[in-house]
Amino acid sequence: METVVLIVGAGPAGLATSVCLNQHSIPNVILEKEDIYASLWKKRAYDRLKLHLAKNFCQLPYMPHGPDVPTFMSKDLFIKYLDAYVTHFDINPRYNRTVKFSTFEVSNDKWRVEAENNVTGETEVYWSDFLVVATGENGDGNIPARHVLTKEEVYVGMSLLKYCSVTMVDALVMMMASTRLFMYGDLSKYGLFRPKQGPFATKLFTGKAPVIDVGTIKKILEGEIQVINGGIRSIQGKTLTFENGLKQDFDAIVFATGYKSSVCNWLKNYEYMMKEDGFPKKPMPKHWKGEKNLYCAGFSRKGIAGAAQDAMYVAEDIRSILATTKY
Ligand SMILES: Cc1cc2nc3c(=O)[nH]c(=O)nc-3n(C[C@H](O)[C@H](O)[C@H](O)COP(=O)(O)OP(=O)(O)OC[C@H]3O[C@@H](n4cnc5c(N)ncnc54)[C@H](O)[C@@H]3O)c2cc1C
Repeated sequence: METVVLIVGAGPAGLATSVCLNQHSIPNVILEKEDIYASLWKKRAYDRLKLHLAKNFCQLPYMPHGPDVPTFMSKDLFIKYLDAYVTHFDINPRYNRTVKFSTFEVSNDKWRVEAENNVTGETEVYWSDFLVVATGENGDGNIPARHVLTKEEVYVGMSLLKYCSVTMVDALVMMMASTRLFMYGDLSKYGLFRPKQGPFATKLFTGKAPVIDVGTIKKILEGEIQVINGGIRSIQGKTLTFENGLKQDFDAIVFATGYKSSVCNWLKNYEYMMKEDGFPKKPMPKHWKGEKNLYCAGFSRKGIAGAAQDAMYVAEDIRSILATTKY
């Protein structure tokens, strides 16, 4: 199959990119490995999740949230918003297509993308003039060192970032967090060490977000949640062996150690745009554009707001190229 723009991933970033391209009447196809759009939200998010960021930071192009929507939306409300977005703009991703391989063919100046059809097991080949990577910042597992903030503290920080430097915002937010954490005392015995770099600088420069505390710290201090410090040496069936030799059985083992980008696993010419960690080479605000008509949306480390902005920039850039070249 051949198209002008191929988008890999039907999360908020991929959907927004398709909508923005459609506004310019640019043909595009989305390939999604799951059987549904926004799979992270529909399949991989816990039930009681409320969005960590305020609603004005969580909307996609051409469809703002209404005034009746609460500042911190529930996951279900956000999914309803995405459902309305997909229906209103009539977006139809090709589901059950896992992109396994993609490379730029110099012979015809096109991207060649191989996707496995998860239903038939067949490999499908797609050709496009432009390729947009929208597979998310959270593809593979990771072990993070993180700040712990409440969502209100994140909201204050994000609002202030418009007016103050990241250093000032970090100092203020860390002071707020310290006042709150002061009540808790020293948390390092639970393995919770506060990094030297402030939470917003860490987010900006490394992409690592602070942990949002919705009551976990209190439960740890009260002993309701027990923290066992130190690494895990091995897991055999239900038995976990820790680095210190301690063995313990568990009914269920949940890996909750964070995620990292998985782009380099399937994008063979990632060097046109990405570093080895699967994040853009170029600093913001031009991070979304690579070489050879390669783009990305959703890698700005600014959540849904960043994805929405990327989508608009990518579509506008492709529109301007199409307006002035052979395509
Ligand atoms: C618990 C939680 C809470 C969050 N809260 C907020 C919040 O309040 N505000 C905010 O702005 N952000 C929040 N985020 C971040 C959020 O994940 C992103 O903002 C948003 O989902 C990013 O959209 P995306 O389209 O870039 O990536 P994703 O939502 O990860 O979508 C990527 C899509 O690509 C597909 N894909 C991946 N690899 C392939 C492949 N090889 N082939 C085909 N398809 C592929 C995936 O199946 C997925 O559907 C939260 C994240 C989590 C986990």
